[in-house]
Amino acid sequence: MRELDQSVIREFERIVGANHALQEPDLTASYTTDWTGRFEGQSPVVLRPADTAQVAELVKVAAAAEISIVPQGGNTGLVGGSVPLNQEIIISTLRLNQCEPIDVLAQQVTVGAGVTLAALQSHASQRELDMGVDLAARDSCTVGGMIATNAGGINVVRYGAMRDQILGVEAVLSDGSIISHLEGLEKDNTGYSLPGLLAGSEGTLGIITKARLRLHPRLEERCSAMIAFNNVDDAVAATAQLRRTLPSLHAVEVIFAEAMHLVSQHIGSSIPVGHDAHAWVIVEVAASIDPTEELAKAIDGLGSLPVEVAVGMDTGTRANLWQYREKITEAISTQGTPHKLDVTIGASRLAEFVNRVPQVISEVDRSATALMFGHLGDGNVHVNILGPAGAEPDEGVDEAVLLYVAKLGGSISAEHGIGSAKREFLHLNRSSSELAAFRAIKKALDPNGILNPNVLLPPESP
Ligand SMILES: Cc1cc2nc3c(=O)[nH]c(=O)nc-3n(C[C@H](O)[C@H](O)[C@H](O)COP(=O)(O)OP(=O)(O)OC[C@H]3O[C@@H](n4cnc5c(N)ncnc54)[C@H](O)[C@@H]3O)c2cc1C
Repeated sequence: MRELDQSVIREFERIVGANHALQEPDLTASYTTDWTGRFEGQSPVVLRPADTAQVAELVKVAAAAEISIVPQGGNTGLVGGSVPLNQEIIISTLRLNQCEPIDVLAQQVTVGAGVTLAALQSHASQRELDMGVDLAARDSCTVGGMIATNAGGINVVRYGAMRDQILGVEAVLSDGSIISHLEGLEKDNTGYSLPGLLAGSEGTLGIITKARLRLHPRLEERCSAMIAFNNVDDAVAATAQLRRTLPSLHAVEVIFAEAMHLVSQHIGSSIPVGHDAHAWVIVEVAASIDPTEELAKAIDGLGSLPVEVAVGMDTGTRANLWQYREKITEAISTQGTPHKLDVTIGASRLAEFVNRVPQVISEVDRSATALMFGHLGDGNVHVNILGPAGAEPDEGVDEAVLLYVAKLGGSISAEHGIGSAKREFLHLNRSSSELAAFRAIKKALDPNGILNPNVLLPPESP
């Protein structure tokens, strides 16, 4: 990468205005450190374009000057993919925050990449519609970031991940050209699916500037339950049964013991049910007519699997149960800087994984602690590993856990992406032919490698 000289900065300022070309370290600091605090870089300039045309102009200037770019949305990513680790410039999408009117007939909307999930949810709710993906970072994470990471969240069990919500995208490619396909046709087999390609591309193939998204009917009638289990096998068996018997199933989340004790301490409230249990599953049902009876019947059908159950029927009691799940990431951050390993394991090996992984970790670092929780409905476990007294754990724990995941046939990244944190482990899930195909795609769309060069693909050996 070439050094950035003042004439290039002046070009950037001409495009976005000097107020939106941030250079002072105290102004750029929140853009150069990630949400976890584990990944920190430096950037000569953070650019905040107002529209797609400005993004395209910025990219043209950067490409001509051979300057690398990190596209950034809400900077809530958890794998070190959104921060400049090698002096890249940042193009922040936060000003691409326009929501177009909802297309009620099609149940779709076109929004800017910088629209936050919470703003999108609020916009959709005005027409009694909802977004299919929801996650705890909703106030800050953006549509562009969610597409680039193929975000999952709590409703994948019902609506799928972000890739399933996208009908079209507009994006700026590495030469500054704009691709745009926002008609939102449900059936449109006219060649390669560029939205599908950009979903999960982590800013390496293009900068998403707009998206056409599918919306779903807003389901106002909701009921939640927290179900405590004595062991992980029972929680997994119960989840499979709930998926079979509950048509209104909206979310199935899990918190394992160490994480539950920490979050209950963090929010200053005792564990609602089964104090000595090993796994707590939070189930939410949602429908247009009250699904409480359906949930009660399904829980009855679990027989003796649960130890204890708490049900939340009104907004207040539901929120009380959900806070144990939603505040875990924040609770863990108060303890230090964890290594976050977000993995999926098939249902048949899930209990084995959760039971054994603390030992896998302690074989590498005896002082490390594992805190686990996740989206049980889709086999997604977040393994958060903390070292002693807030220190980071031994680097070797990541490799040990990810090797174990691969051995069980799981995925080393369920929903957060590969980022810079896991790129050296991508080969555990992807064959050399797949990696060669990835590199060919990258080369075709970004021949000079200026888009997010430190993420996803492992460095090529010289
Ligand atoms: C409390 C908390 C809870 C979370 N829960 C979940 C969860 O349940 N499920 C889940 O999947 N994730 C979760 N996350 C992770 C994170 O919120 C998601 O990965 C989210 O999609 C990132 O969006 P962002 O706008 O913050 O992207 P950033 O963090 O800004 O960027 C993430 C990646 O996307 C790229 N990118 C961003 N915008 C663009 C763009 N416009 N064009 C091209 N590339 C772009 C970046 O270069 C980077 O590689 C959570 C995070 C936190 C802090």
